[in-house]
Amino acid sequence: MENYHSLLLKQKDYFAANKTKDVSFRLHQLKKLKKAIQNYEAELIKALKTDLNKSKTEAYMTEIGIIYEEINFVVKHLKDWAKPKTVKTPITHVGSKSKIYPEPYGSVLVIAPWNYPFQLAVAPLIGAMAAGNCAVMKPSELTPETSRVLSRLVQDTFDEEYISVVEGAVETSQALLKEDFDKIFFTGSTAVGKIIMEAAAKTLTPVTLELGGKSPCIVHKDANLELAAKRIVWGKFLNAGQTCVAPDYLLVHHEMKESLLEQMKITIREFYGENALQNENFTHIVSERHFDRLSNFLSDGNLVVGGKTERSSLIIEPTILDNISWDDPVMEDEIFGPILPVLTYKNVGDAIEQVNSRPKPLALYVFSEEEEIQQTVIDHISFGGGCINDTVYHLSSPYLPFGGVGASGMGAYHGKGSFDVFSHEKSILKQTTRFDIPLRYPNTKNALKKL
Ligand code: NAD
Repeated sequence: MENYHSLLLKQKDYFAANKTKDVSFRLHQLKKLKKAIQNYEAELIKALKTDLNKSKTEAYMTEIGIIYEEINFVVKHLKDWAKPKTVKTPITHVGSKSKIYPEPYGSVLVIAPWNYPFQLAVAPLIGAMAAGNCAVMKPSELTPETSRVLSRLVQDTFDEEYISVVEGAVETSQALLKEDFDKIFFTGSTAVGKIIMEAAAKTLTPVTLELGGKSPCIVHKDANLELAAKRIVWGKFLNAGQTCVAPDYLLVHHEMKESLLEQMKITIREFYGENALQNENFTHIVSERHFDRLSNFLSDGNLVVGGKTERSSLIIEPTILDNISWDDPVMEDEIFGPILPVLTYKNVGDAIEQVNSRPKPLALYVFSEEEEIQQTVIDHISFGGGCINDTVYHLSSPYLPFGGVGASGMGAYHGKGSFDVFSHEKSILKQTTRFDIPLRYPNTKNALKKL
């Protein structure tokens, strides 16, 4: 544990030298990071295949390409974001000027999950570097190959007193949490999010928590059936359902259910073939423990499609379960696998009530052609973010801050949001010394006194 302490002390010394506050230094390091990822691209793709059987296309699209886009965006805008912002000053403060200085926190801890093991460690890192911080990353122990490549990439590119990777499991994470970091950025489950926040409370360290939850997908009776089927199947079974913003369950208008499920069956066959167990590009479940937990859900409700599994290779077919009720085990917690339970509603008020009786979700999707329906859902349910007539896509826009609310998290990042979560806004009022207004002082006359 001693080495984490000395690592952090080294980072604090490095930060204190003010080097990371120089914007051209930050830009240079971000470009270096991009170059290093390009050099390691083949190794990363191989590691993601070993850890999760991610296909090359999916690995590039959801782990690597998205990171290049994020770096490009941040590099383009950083000079502007990092400038002190002049803001208005009220008339009562006559003579003074007001500015907000974005200031890096210092040394930040990034704890990442296994489902997008590269992207979810590096996307926060980009924000941390852009804002001028030093960082320690703790990637997931469940994807050891990717964590190892990430660790080598960082070691080859940066001094450890600036950016460092610490590999390890829960004990490592807990040992790091005992150190006095200046900010903690955690991505993972709601249960562990609570542990992180409790640990951070001891040192009053600010936290950003990117958590999970059961994200509903509401399909109204007027939805474009074919498009809804395609976009839901894609968002749900991407990464074998191991996506924090995957539609967790389908809440479909009862008149629409049969035709939608029929269309989704066709789409699943189109996307993954007759036998997904034989599809070499379909992502595997991360571990036997996760596989067993998911397999237990397969006896809930009635099977519409899928349901076959192969424990030796940790594959579960894209599966849809019908006739599900809120009391079924599959509806208790976030599923985080390729199983889609189906519930129905009679009117939009009923759908809203069902969602609102659960913790606030990370994402919500609504499929409808009618603006009034779309707006009613947005206005009556609190959730992190989402899409109208699509799934998952909101996550890849740098203009949309991404994060949860309530049990699904606190704080948001991506694009400017990434710079903001790793910056403290230091407010400065610069007062004139040319004159003084003594009104505020006790026992002084109400006169404008020339100094
Ligand atoms: P997890 O909470 O089990 O683990 C996340 C990280 O925390 C890992 O690095 C792990 O080593 C560490 N950790 C685990 N237990 C710990 C403990 N007791 N004390 C300290 N550290 C601990 O999550 P996971 O299984 O890796 O990921 C799946 C979860 O993450 C899902 O709930 C998913 O929705 C969520 N998630 C959220 C987002 C988001 O952006 N909001 C993205 C991906 C995943």
